[in-house]
Amino acid sequence: MNIKENLSNRIKRVKPSVTNDSNRQAKELIKNGIHVFNLSNGDISLPTPEIAKNAAIEAIENDDTKYTLASGKEELRKAIADQYNRKYDLDYKYQNVLVGSGTKNVLFTLMGVLCNHDDEIIVPTPCWPSYFEQIKLFGATPKIVECGIETNFKLTPKLLSKNITSKTKAVILNSPNNPSGSVYSKDELAKLAEVLEEHDDIFIIFDDVYSQIVSPSSSFYNIVCLSKEIQNRTIIAGGISKNYGMTGWRIGWIIGPEEIISASSSFQSHSLGSAVTISQDATISLLKHVDESPFNVVFSERRKTMVRELKKIKELSFVQPQGACYIFLSINKLIGKKYDGITLKNSKQFCELALKYGHISVIPGEACGLEGYLRLSFGSLSSTQIKENMFQLKQFVEKFR
Ligand code: PLP
Repeated sequence: MNIKENLSNRIKRVKPSVTNDSNRQAKELIKNGIHVFNLSNGDISLPTPEIAKNAAIEAIENDDTKYTLASGKEELRKAIADQYNRKYDLDYKYQNVLVGSGTKNVLFTLMGVLCNHDDEIIVPTPCWPSYFEQIKLFGATPKIVECGIETNFKLTPKLLSKNITSKTKAVILNSPNNPSGSVYSKDELAKLAEVLEEHDDIFIIFDDVYSQIVSPSSSFYNIVCLSKEIQNRTIIAGGISKNYGMTGWRIGWIIGPEEIISASSSFQSHSLGSAVTISQDATISLLKHVDESPFNVVFSERRKTMVRELKKIKELSFVQPQGACYIFLSINKLIGKKYDGITLKNSKQFCELALKYGHISVIPGEACGLEGYLRLSFGSLSSTQIKENMFQLKQFVEKFR
């Protein structure tokens, strides 16, 4: 039997995670003793807050290690709703919250609940690559809307209205954004909401997984704060991975209308079952006591260092990121130039050459839906590591002729 041919058409349409793959290749070189400047790792190299660790230890000692309801522990759902209500003056109840195993997992559940075969989901790019594949897995179409450097990589009202069709089911907004670090202001979100007011059957998926990682010169605004009408058709997707450096605990949530949460719970009762109970307990303690990321200052320092060091490389250009832990770097000045006799055609090829010859691991913009760029992550690099290793990228880039 040809096993590959006998796999589902669904999985044949899906591309594996580029971020995962680049990171794997970098780690392989490192294992072989090669020093790699790993700028592809989306993980966060900061410790889990003590309060969460202690709550998890207590959960194990008390044998709180059994299944929970598919939607998560009521106490956790309430703690999540309370944090949003406290921070943004909202009125969510625990029935508006579903807990899953990471934001990736709850977004997958949400796509399963929303997407029909003919549907289109508007995905402004550059974006987190999994949106495309999750939408495709449920047979719908990601309607890619390229948002270039001229709009700071953000969706504009004009681009939004141009791309709405009778098939549009939802639009995804991610702020702060992976990979550009752009943050939508209240005014920008209000203008997008004005367009959506004309189309009251379109859902808004608002991914705020980096909501507490914002530079001092910017501020985060949640679209649900605009009006009750917008809140009633928005599903927030968030989690503890990035804000609290707890990527491996795998806790994420969606917050939205009860009908969506109840359908998602039903979906999840046949897929995930429930999120890990120990991690749920850790998150309850965390969210009851910590409303702001303990690491925002560290991220701001890393972002400043990245910007300062990258400014020394004149062949590369970028827009100053306002949040998250990435910089989206333009390589347009290098396209068409030669590296060791090889003409550079695109971002994917840059990444291959950078890993092979420069021992630098970066993510191609193409994977994030915008060609001509690279995603550099500083989630796992200290300011010292950035300072000490950036010369590697400078030297590699300077060899293009
Ligand atoms: N959303 C965005 C924009 C992300 O960048 C990520 C992870 O990198 C996720 C969601 C998923 O986060 P997690 O599943 O770790 O909560």
